[in-house]
Amino acid sequence: MAKCIYCGTEYNLSESDIIPDALTNARILNRNVCKTEHNNKFSDLFEYKVISELAFLTNSLDIKSSKSSSYPKYEAIYKIAGLDYSTKLSSETELFRGRKLRSTDGKHLMGLLNDIENIAKDPNRVEQIDINKLEIEKKIQINTSIFFSEEMFRTISKIAYEWYCLKNDIDDKYNDFTDIIDFITLGVGQPVSVIEDIDIIGCFKQNTLLASHCIIGYLSQNKNIYVLVNLFGVALYKVEVCKFNPQLCKNNCMLQEFTINSERKEIIYEEPASLFHDVQNSFVPGGKINGATVMIPIDLSDASLQQKIFLCTVYQLMESGCVVETREPTKNSIGIIINNIDYLMNQGLIHKKALKRFAKEYIMDSIEPIVLNPEGTKNKNAFMFFIVYLIGKYLENINDIEQINQLIEEHLGKQNKEYTVNDDISVKLKERILEDGDYNAVLSQGATLIMNWE
Ligand SMILES: [Zn+2]
Repeated sequence: MAKCIYCGTEYNLSESDIIPDALTNARILNRNVCKTEHNNKFSDLFEYKVISELAFLTNSLDIKSSKSSSYPKYEAIYKIAGLDYSTKLSSETELFRGRKLRSTDGKHLMGLLNDIENIAKDPNRVEQIDINKLEIEKKIQINTSIFFSEEMFRTISKIAYEWYCLKNDIDDKYNDFTDIIDFITLGVGQPVSVIEDIDIIGCFKQNTLLASHCIIGYLSQNKNIYVLVNLFGVALYKVEVCKFNPQLCKNNCMLQEFTINSERKEIIYEEPASLFHDVQNSFVPGGKINGATVMIPIDLSDASLQQKIFLCTVYQLMESGCVVETREPTKNSIGIIINNIDYLMNQGLIHKKALKRFAKEYIMDSIEPIVLNPEGTKNKNAFMFFIVYLIGKYLENINDIEQINQLIEEHLGKQNKEYTVNDDISVKLKERILEDGDYNAVLSQGATLIMNWE
């Protein structure tokens, strides 16, 4: 009979989201966690804080909890017509939908014209602004200390432990894991560190998709079980799950990636040696170049080979003894995290949930017809509007994201699925939409297709 992996009770077991579901589009569950004492309590003890502090990031990546109907709110300062307004919103579109905002200097109130005119003592001091011609600048204060907080370390340890147990069919509490269990449940011990090694981080960047979570578990040469958790590709953590090789676990060399498109890709080996053996046997000598033998893959269609080589490289780097780790924030580790966040936030990732959200917030929920601002420089929005426009103009139904990628390629040229949308291109994309006298109807049609996409 299955029991809780934290306390061994067989009563009231529940499905625990290994990665909190507010942090991923690709849910993964461990069914052996008791409901009240462990599953629910963890969310109050540490997950809640991590989720709220990362709301700016999950919101920007269009990730939300399955339990919530809206995207997470976060505090930001919006500079509108020269004034700063500080508020907590889920979407910028909420700024102008009936809400009243007081500027941070306390001297101005912004809202719908009628509302403001009713409140204003002196009508001459009411100024009208056209929101379609506005440039809004958004500033977010990012609290990087969250990445080194006990709440984060316990959340990461929980992910590592529940994932390792799932991959090894652990369905009871075992003394082998007393240390990691004590840290997750009580905060006792220090099993987590942040990796600030450029080679390893670069290796993850090259081999994983943007904004995905990647988890790697392995048995070290010193016979420790380590689990690496690369959170959104923003921060890379190492967790010591067991100080020896637990005899009840046979899978000790594995990798799983959870992508923003809700995909889960994985490879599992019993030990590092079997992985290396398999990779070596996947190649044959394929002739010589300048006297050196070139190895080529036996099966060219083997998509998992890249992942296997990636795992080999990470293992070798981790075992090289030169990896720089820290438990406290350092200038270097903070710099890496900020760079990664900056990079992620400036990418317009096109996935199903992102398109649906954009269509709903910017087109379906808009009370008035869409008026594109030809001078505006909201590049990400211009690109999204253009995609909705293409869909409305050229598609009759949407089958999958690949079909949309093809459509973009046909109209913007093939660019390895990455498009840089700078101010110039943003203006050109808007011009192409505005040329069409019927663009409002086409955008509505596009938005409707996206909303009906199963
Ligand atoms: Zn329990």
